[in-house]
Amino acid sequence: MVVIKVARIHIRNVKLRHPSKTGRKRRTLRKKYESQTENAKILSRLETLALEVQSLKSEIVVLQSSSKELFDTDQSFGAHLADVRDYFERKIRDVTDNAEDLCSKIEEMQTTLDRLARDLDKLFESSIPVRKIAMPPPITSQLTIYRGEENLSFQVGVIPGIIETVMERARACVGQKDKHDEEIVGVLTGRVTGNTVIIEEAVPGRASYSGMTEVALDPNNLAEIVDNIIRNDKNQRIVGWYHSHLGLGVFLSDIDVKTQLTLQQFSYVIALVVDPIKNEHSFFYVDKEVKEPDGRPKTIKFVKSE
Ligand SMILES: [Zn+2]
Repeated sequence: MVVIKVARIHIRNVKLRHPSKTGRKRRTLRKKYESQTENAKILSRLETLALEVQSLKSEIVVLQSSSKELFDTDQSFGAHLADVRDYFERKIRDVTDNAEDLCSKIEEMQTTLDRLARDLDKLFESSIPVRKIAMPPPITSQLTIYRGEENLSFQVGVIPGIIETVMERARACVGQKDKHDEEIVGVLTGRVTGNTVIIEEAVPGRASYSGMTEVALDPNNLAEIVDNIIRNDKNQRIVGWYHSHLGLGVFLSDIDVKTQLTLQQFSYVIALVVDPIKNEHSFFYVDKEVKEPDGRPKTIKFVKSE
């Protein structure tokens, strides 16, 4: 609180004493006049001062009221500021809580997404089309096809060059010193696709017995050949056997039929007979269900397909 002290100014008429009457009177009168003028000036100044003081007083009152108002404003502002601070603290807490909540929600979503991705992977895996494997051209264009009689359920396909190779081996043995060494024997390996027996290789073998038109394959040698097929993992199997006749033409002798029937215990086994002297060859199969008029089982000859 500001206290303003206002000085009170008392104005008194000062009594002047006049010792003489005539000259003094005039002098006295002038002095009196002068004195009065002086007094009037002082009075005027004093009045001005009083007015100024009055004005100052009212200004002080205004200032006091403004100061109080400011103080009140300050008080309410402080309170308001506290409110605002509380509000923001609450807000910050809310935002923090919300952020934590959001984080856990995001984690949940991440888990869900991971699961979804796994499910999608599985779905794709199961719906991925089976990779197409390039298939070789139709076998008929790569093979020489031999067809049996109508009731025979399969045909023989030979990789070009196989028959020539067997014929060459047979021809190379003609004219040996020992007649028994003139016949050749071997095994035909390959695979079966559909109803076609495909001959892919002619493996030379050892004969255990040899006559003019018949030959027996050494069983031990046959086992060796089978072992070799398995060892080399050629994905092949025995599909037939071959031997040579020297100048008597191609057919199956009685012993040949017996050999063939033994080998035919395994499905789709055919016999190739070559004659290097007559330059003939033929594939044979024995149908043991059908008998010839003489009681022998029917031998089926394969004919080169046109
Ligand atoms: Zn024979």
